Formats: sequence, C-alpha cells, structure tokens
Amino acid sequence: MAYTTMKFMETCPVCDQAFQFGPKRYEGFTLDAYDMHVCDRCEVGNHDGWSPHHEPKILEHLKAKNLPVPGRLPNGMLPFNPPKTRHPSSRT
Ligand SMILES: [Zn+2]
Repeated sequence: MAYTTMKFMETCPVCDQAFQFGPKRYEGFTLDAYDMHVCDRCEVGNHDGWSPHHEPKILEHLKAKNLPVPGRLPNGMLPFNPPKTRHPSSRT
C-alpha cells in the first residue's frame, strides 16, 4: 500500500508523450476550452498557437468531446489555451 511512491503518469493527447502528474511533480497544462491536459513540451512549442500539424488531433478531440472550435488567432492558428466560452453553434 505504498501509494506515496506511486507516480501518476498521463499521456499527452496531442503528442502522445507520457508526463508526470503527481504526486509532488505536476507537469502539463489543463486547457479548459479543449477539455484536455497536455504536456509541458506542447506548451513550450505551441504557446503562441497550435502548430498546424497538431490540428487534426485537436479538432478530432474537440469533435469527440462535442466542444466548439475556439476562434483562431490573427496568425491563423488555434489558440493554445483560450478562455472558455460558450458557443452554441459550432461549425462542423
Ligand atoms: Zn504534448
């Protein structure tokens, strides 16, 4: 029953890399608008917008969760961690 030595590993839904989420060490970012938890590497590489090669995975995830696609940034990319907004009509 040595739960204290147990590591909680999560797999990043975007890049498929495992990262530690507790105890003591909490990596990754919770993106409310996307309802997903991504790793630090994704934050570093995509904080100014998701790379286009990640988009298919993200759009698929949004579709699976029935979430609206966030408004794009001026650079045409999907925002990394936009504030959660409610858009009843999402484009499909
Ligand atoms: Zn990642």
